[in-house]
Amino acid sequence: MKWEGGRQSSNVEDRRDGSAGTAGGGGRRVGGRGVGLGTVAIALVAGWVFGINPLTVLGLLGGEGGGLPAPAPQVQQAPAAHPQDPMGQFVATVLADTEDVWRELFRAQGGQYQDPKLVLFRGATPTACGTGQTAMGPFYCPGDHKVYLDLGFFDTLSQQLGAPGDFAAAYVIAHEVGHHLQNLLGLSAKVQQARQRVGRAEGNVLSVKLELQADCFAGVWAHHSQKGKGWLDASDIQAALNAASRIGDDVLQKAARGTVVPESFTHGSAAQRQRWFQTGLNKGTLEACDTFAARSI
Ligand SMILES: [Zn+2]
Repeated sequence: MKWEGGRQSSNVEDRRDGSAGTAGGGGRRVGGRGVGLGTVAIALVAGWVFGINPLTVLGLLGGEGGGLPAPAPQVQQAPAAHPQDPMGQFVATVLADTEDVWRELFRAQGGQYQDPKLVLFRGATPTACGTGQTAMGPFYCPGDHKVYLDLGFFDTLSQQLGAPGDFAAAYVIAHEVGHHLQNLLGLSAKVQQARQRVGRAEGNVLSVKLELQADCFAGVWAHHSQKGKGWLDASDIQAALNAASRIGDDVLQKAARGTVVPESFTHGSAAQRQRWFQTGLNKGTLEACDTFAARSI
């Protein structure tokens, strides 16, 4: 992925120095407990997949947390300076490209895209959805329209989950931006309402459909990104598809427990995640991503 030199978004909020991340114990929460790196990585993976459907974290899915937590107190906004490190610059460049693509697609349909912010943090940070923590993995908070990302996740993705490559990381960012789109389009709210009317198993199916739709939206972004910039090659697409498969619920459950329990999936299987990313990539339209209407996912 030839990302160097591309426009960098001014919507990155860098809290890695801990300046705005003091609530919840600051940036050393995980390390301060003396937890080994391996444990952190496992907790992170397990958290991302098993417990931490972003909507659950946010209390948006009824019955699990007693509703949306009160917004965190307003923290001092970091000045809109671009990150100085390559990884931070990479994230800012990918985010900028998601802005380019989604602004244009919304404009073409007579709408206006509202950019999300992306917060870089370490350890723990306040969010409108409660304290965000590294162990949750990357997540999106509808309450403040921000994606929260600890860059350490990309090491886990590459080293522990076997999904290296710039574009594997870009796919993760685009997936979270996909949740922002769902928020803007009112889809998350609809799913939240629907979940309150159904049982746990059906609720999980809705969760999976929401996640697969975010994968599909990431594919739509990749489609238009490549059309506009031509910065991907076949190995990039392969890296994203590989990442999609590595973070399938079945793969992660097998790694963590040795068994697979499809009823407990909240993100979708490896095959499903690959299929929906590919669908978005091939079709390039939001309409192609109606996982809720699809007969089979
Ligand atoms: Zn997700």
